[in-house]
Amino acid sequence: MNFSVIIPAYNEEENIVPLYDEIKKSLKNIGNYEIIFIDDGSKDGTLRTIKELSKKDKIVKYISFAKNSGQTQAIAAGVDFSKGTHIITLDADLQNPPEEIPGLINKLKKGNYNCVSGWRKNRRDNFKKILFSKLSFIVRKLLFNDKIHDAGCTLKIYERSCFNDFEFYGESHRFITTILQLNGYKVGEYVVKHKKRHSGKTKYGAKRLINGFLDLLFIKFWNDSSPRPLHFFGNLSFFQYFLAIFIFIEQIFKAIIISKFDLGPILVLGVLLFLNATVTFLFGFMFEIMLRSGPNGRYYKVKEMSA
Ligand code: UDP
Ligand code: MG
Repeated sequence: MNFSVIIPAYNEEENIVPLYDEIKKSLKNIGNYEIIFIDDGSKDGTLRTIKELSKKDKIVKYISFAKNSGQTQAIAAGVDFSKGTHIITLDADLQNPPEEIPGLINKLKKGNYNCVSGWRKNRRDNFKKILFSKLSFIVRKLLFNDKIHDAGCTLKIYERSCFNDFEFYGESHRFITTILQLNGYKVGEYVVKHKKRHSGKTKYGAKRLINGFLDLLFIKFWNDSSPRPLHFFGNLSFFQYFLAIFIFIEQIFKAIIISKFDLGPILVLGVLLFLNATVTFLFGFMFEIMLRSGPNGRYYKVKEMSA
């Protein structure tokens, strides 16, 4: 086993060196590993600090984005450029203590898991964040029967194969474990400590609740209809065609019986259903075409990176 520790960092200047020190201390006995910082278009001295570390210590590598592209894309880039057989992710702000990493590795090995996800049972965040996390658990359980308590905890370990063809979109870093389980991977949980942010500010506000909910809805749709959106939209459109044709036949019979063609609301409904069925059908086709020509969920632009 060798490990790639992936750390997304957006304006985390003050946190980089203390985090590096803690990782070095905690991973002394785990064998080969690399640390990859992904500077997500920071405006402070984050990149400069990472570069200085990288000059001093060859296990420190970095990727720097041309502009802020979000935590999901930062993790995607880290995964793409990493070399380890196993990938460990954690936040740059020291909320996820590196001392938990050996325990995560152990749990993965012993339980024969493809991924082990940290569970911040005693979370050191404000009431709003904890409430959002509980809501997310309820929705995930209802939609997917997902039993992972804390999908949003960045501190996780993955076998590299988890990311074969994995598509990163929106803020889907919060639901990687949900997607992995839907794809047949075995995911375990491990209780980890959680600390207050070492320095700097959180990058997320209340919008995360809405974005998170939208991402979950999409995962549900994707899982139910993938890999054929045409099937999902095609079925929806045929149902509408069927209703429309039923209305047309009923209207024709009625016109024959009363010898008068009536342009009433039922006929208008039939026409609307027919048109909507056609639009729905075309949507299915368009999605199918987009599915086959998409950029595999990579939207980041690298400005520079270490050798
Ligand atoms: N982050 C990032 N790009 C962003 C937002 C966040 O790389 O656009 C990083 C951030 O620097 C941190 C991690 O993602 O290392 C988690 O962010 P944060 O601590 O703000 O989230 P919270 O702990 O408040 O949920
Ligand atoms: Mg944080």
